[in-house]
Amino acid sequence: VINNKDNEWIEKDRQYLWHHMTPYKEEASPIVAVEGKGSWITDIHGNKYLDAMSGLWCVNVGYGREELAQAAYEQLKNISYFPLSQSHLPAIQLAEKLNEWLEGEYVIFFSNSGSEANETAFKIARQYHMQNGDPSRYKFISRYRAYHGNSMGALAATGQAVRKFNYEPLAPGFIHVSPPDSYRRPEGQTVEQFNLNCALEIEKTIIWEGTDSIAALIMEPVITGGGVLVPEPIYMKKVKEICQKYGVLLIIDEVICGFGRTGKKFGHMHFDIKPDIVTMAKGLTSGYLPLSATAVRRDVYEKFKSSDEFGYFRHVNTFGGNPAACALALKNIEIYEKENLVERAQALGKQLRQELNELLEHPLVGDIRSFGFLLGIELVENKQTKEPATPARIDHIIAECKKKGLIIGKNGATVAGFNNILTLSPPLSSTDYDLAFIVTTIKEVMNKY
Ligand code: PMP
Repeated sequence: VINNKDNEWIEKDRQYLWHHMTPYKEEASPIVAVEGKGSWITDIHGNKYLDAMSGLWCVNVGYGREELAQAAYEQLKNISYFPLSQSHLPAIQLAEKLNEWLEGEYVIFFSNSGSEANETAFKIARQYHMQNGDPSRYKFISRYRAYHGNSMGALAATGQAVRKFNYEPLAPGFIHVSPPDSYRRPEGQTVEQFNLNCALEIEKTIIWEGTDSIAALIMEPVITGGGVLVPEPIYMKKVKEICQKYGVLLIIDEVICGFGRTGKKFGHMHFDIKPDIVTMAKGLTSGYLPLSATAVRRDVYEKFKSSDEFGYFRHVNTFGGNPAACALALKNIEIYEKENLVERAQALGKQLRQELNELLEHPLVGDIRSFGFLLGIELVENKQTKEPATPARIDHIIAECKKKGLIIGKNGATVAGFNNILTLSPPLSSTDYDLAFIVTTIKEVMNKY
């Protein structure tokens, strides 16, 4: 039942709130969330939705965790703010805990968002080479279709033209290479060959750009928002070798893949990689408070141990590493550990994949890709030509799911028309009932086509 008071809120929303990444529609009716519990949110009208996008949005441990609210509350009472030019206990404890999770020796720089964590990584990479006596290394390589953030550097690293063209010129020095999109590989190449070729393209790019000009390569273990593009192990193995061969730092963006989403603590752990820099955000606090981190390998950090006026890292972030956010992150990690959510993600992901596999027979489904508890369904108009499904069709499927109480998303755009991958990433704490609800709802909706 929609009462007038609720409609007033919708009116005020239209009047005052600028929605993120959403085209203007006169009659838009956003979900106005008022409460969340587990995988479910309740909107202002009392409707309930299962949030199967929460992983891309960040709520890995589910909504309504009182212990997280409590952790922030207790910390706010003790010391609410102190800058990290000095220090405080929650930041120290969290940095130590992240080291344990990263299974390596890292020094942690805290910020507030994934974009900031990546900007920080870029500045560290450039200065590292400067300090290493290699000042010509300023360029970054990333992949088309990847998303790395909204700021001028992170957006420059992003390989999705549709997000960029109104805002250019962005930061210079960012170069893009092909993603390992095995579904759309050239005819006649095996998946393995194609993946190897994509990795070798990085080597060619380094050579063409100048082997002494590249500061770092930034990549997600699996391209998430760009359409769930899962690489073959050979791709990552080769990438690692190439970075080592040419002295290029490897920055792994774990903003979505981190904290269990892929069925391991961090996505890169599937590929036996020890990144030079790891960036993380969303799952770090499960979105309860803003916090991100740039984890820098100790040997890289060593270069910054300078008392020289210009030799240290001249980068500050006022809110980064806020005590309440750090205390909450520690409690959030405790939940992952206590409830075995990393293992649960692996099991849930496997089951979701198995149960949705039959959709591969559906005339609109070109491909299904998954990695841990992250799944993409690539929709096409024609299975032979792989012509992407029309935006109207995709939006209709998403709207039908929403009517039945399931929030899913679409992803993949590099150019207009390629936003054709339905994306699922429910909370890692999802129950068996939640999983069954997701599967039934998607099948019901898809079977109408
Ligand atoms: N990197 C990746 C892989 C992301 O998915 C995102 C956000 N979707 C970001 C970076 C940027 O994070 P934020 O929105 O917190 O700035």
